Amino acid sequence: MSATDFDLIVIGAGSGGVRAARVAGGYGAKVAVIEDFRVGGTCVIRGCVPKKLYVLASRFRDEFEDARGFGWHVEKPTFDWATLVAAKEKEITRLSGLYEQTLAKNGVTLVRGRASLAGPDAAALPDGRSLRAPHILIATGGAPALAPSIPGIEHALSSNEIFDLPVLPERLAIIGSGYIAVEFACLFARLGVQTTLIYRADLPLRGFDDDLRKHLAGALGQAGVNLRAHVSPTRIDKSATGFQLSLDDGSSLDADVVLAATGRQPATQGMGLDKIGVAMRDNGAIIVDAQSRSSVASIYAVGDVTDRINLTPVAIREGHAFADRVFGKTPRIVDYENVASAVFSTPEIGSVGLSEAAAAEKFPGVDIYETAFRPMRATLSGRAERVYMKLVVNADNQKVVGAHIFGPEAGEMIQLVAIALQMGATKQDFDATMAVHPTMAEELVTMRTPDRRLRRA
Ligand code: NDP
Repeated sequence: MSATDFDLIVIGAGSGGVRAARVAGGYGAKVAVIEDFRVGGTCVIRGCVPKKLYVLASRFRDEFEDARGFGWHVEKPTFDWATLVAAKEKEITRLSGLYEQTLAKNGVTLVRGRASLAGPDAAALPDGRSLRAPHILIATGGAPALAPSIPGIEHALSSNEIFDLPVLPERLAIIGSGYIAVEFACLFARLGVQTTLIYRADLPLRGFDDDLRKHLAGALGQAGVNLRAHVSPTRIDKSATGFQLSLDDGSSLDADVVLAATGRQPATQGMGLDKIGVAMRDNGAIIVDAQSRSSVASIYAVGDVTDRINLTPVAIREGHAFADRVFGKTPRIVDYENVASAVFSTPEIGSVGLSEAAAAEKFPGVDIYETAFRPMRATLSGRAERVYMKLVVNADNQKVVGAHIFGPEAGEMIQLVAIALQMGATKQDFDATMAVHPTMAEELVTMRTPDRRLRRA
């Protein structure tokens, strides 16, 4: 075994790991990043980036239809899946290359292979190489968790495989109704795939504000998605034409492709973490403190492998803060309040802060302001489309503690609303802000009287 000395070993070249490595490298640390797949991680290679490209592709269907109401004559458009897959591949290859360049520019050594821990300051590779460093950062992310564990679940694909299907299926069954299930249902339905969403709750997207969930369910139905609420699959069998899913309400469903979008689990298996005493939760998540330090002082972890808030920007912020603290002598703690997120359904969801239900539980008095309207574009396109917005206000101090948007570009809008919430804006600050007309976002500053005043007895 040859031993190589570094100041920092990062395991995993995804969003969190690459950020930490390049910032630490920029501070002059000698850094190695170990990665056994493509540089870029889930977000770049098989998550956020390819997903958004596919979402954008799917939305042209509505554009072609809507254009007619504005005087355009559009010949019957056709869609070619292979062209989209190839274009996506080209783009993620470009981004992955940029990540590699960034690492190289900051003097980071990229090591190819699957690492395990050989001690609190050592990583080992299957070919016998061994790397040592006084700091090790685990940024291995997560992997799809195929559920439920029923006969035939092995026939289901995960989001890892769905991007590169050799042909676009005619019938797609999606198990689950979280971020991934909803985004893929919207996009595949628009690409012309008969799509069924199978979920055990009454509405998709558990955890989001209930009014957003209701509007989303309506939009999914309008887009032609077959919604099967309150059911779970009991088995998946191969059939002459594809797969047959048996459901626990006694019905069955045929599909060419089954996607299990049933959550993700931290990627810590086979790394030898337990052997060196790194404390983990039952689901394999590494337990860390506010400084992202594990129970072993030399070992840190950031991103989805810690199962805190599993979003790319959070992993990046955690990786950056780690490098600033440990190598830049700048104390920084990540603030997990008011983390906004978007669901790239069509229309989109943008959400920040507390839902109505969560605020009602937390504060004795909550005022709810809401509005639902037809966007201007729908007046000429004729599309049955609604925008919905809600502000959740703490009645005591008038602070806006939640904002929820369902509509086109909600992801873009919520990013800006999040700044206001982060600054502690009150409802009066929203009211004092001049509207930009005619926009959808102006409704956020023109809701004058509460639609509901929730008061705890
Ligand atoms: P989510 O945790 O969002 O949703 C999981 C879904 O699977 C839920 O609908 C859940 O149902 C269902 N489920 C779980 N176990 C079972 C089971 N045994 N039987 C039936 N249904 C089951 O996970 P995703 O896979 O959608 O996404 C993973 C993560 O990726 C998310 O946590 C998110 O952080 C991230 N992500 C973020 C995106 C974004 O920011 N736009 C986009 C995509 C992913 P129930 O609700 O009833 O428990």
